[in-house]
Amino acid sequence: MFQPPRCPYRECPRFARPVPGFYQRAGFYRAKCRPHPIPRFVCKTCERTFSRQTFRMDRGDHRPDLNAQLFRLLASGIGLRQSARMLGLSRRCTELKARKIGEHLCQLDLNLCGLLPEGCELALDELETYEGRRNTRPVTVPLLLETESHYVVWAESATIRPNGKMSEARLAAIAQDEARYGPRRNLSRWAILRTLRRGAALTRHLEHVRLVTDEKTIYPALASEVFGAGRLEHRTVNSQVARMTWNPLFPINHTEAVMRDLMGRLRRESWLVSKDRRYLDLALHVFIAYRNWIRYRFNGEDFSAGQMLGFVTRRLTFGEALSWRQDAGERSIHPLSRKAESVADWKAAHQVRS
Ligand SMILES: [Zn+2]
Repeated sequence: MFQPPRCPYRECPRFARPVPGFYQRAGFYRAKCRPHPIPRFVCKTCERTFSRQTFRMDRGDHRPDLNAQLFRLLASGIGLRQSARMLGLSRRCTELKARKIGEHLCQLDLNLCGLLPEGCELALDELETYEGRRNTRPVTVPLLLETESHYVVWAESATIRPNGKMSEARLAAIAQDEARYGPRRNLSRWAILRTLRRGAALTRHLEHVRLVTDEKTIYPALASEVFGAGRLEHRTVNSQVARMTWNPLFPINHTEAVMRDLMGRLRRESWLVSKDRRYLDLALHVFIAYRNWIRYRFNGEDFSAGQMLGFVTRRLTFGEALSWRQDAGERSIHPLSRKAESVADWKAAHQVRS
């Protein structure tokens, strides 16, 4: 029988400090999409009602049964329109579902991850793509990876200025874009800093942090700003070195290749594009959650990256990843918990890294 771990309303004192018996049962209701009756509760402190469904990621959804299927399609390189056709949903509905899934998976990743183990190594690289228009609106995506487990620590997009060959038509297109949106700014520095800071948060307990990057000139200064020059062991690799498995950048190059394959919008010569990089960021979180918690690390293995680092005890299924809401930080219910324990309680009970 489901027991609510806390009051779901943030303003209520029982949100942060639930006490045993803070709620009273208040019957059941039946939902068309669920075979079992759903229990209702009333909070004795704020006197508001809620149900088991209030804690679920699919609360208020019209077709909750399609969420996991959509996640599976989006993590397999299928575009939004084709997913909509396959699921029999409208395009708009698919779009909204995909956004909700992306936001949720970002929170899930932040909640489940923990401190990285001693001896880990981080790799940073950027991949280039675009929003809306290929020749005028390029975007860079810094990506931070733990190289042994292939755990993706963070990735996000930032606008950069158009570069490379300039034909007359391209210059005209750029001028047209600048008239409409203003000059395109280069914000890559801030995205790289934010990405490195996610790595710094997960390595804050380590005496030395190992980082490997290519020879781009701004990386050393940004990395020592974030990690502290005394702690940082920064290795750079010339991009001319053959991209074989012994190349120290192999894990991150490999992850980028998988990313380009599994996110249709990053494929070369693809019809799929990100209209706005905000949605690219949400798609990145879909990919990251799939890579970190659901897929096994390599073919032939049966553990995920997050499992290898000791953050969870087994791989998650698509349905589990989209089960409990994750918007209350460590107070959210852990997706692997059987008795609706919070993320913090579940981690303590199973002695995983947090
Ligand atoms: Zn309450």
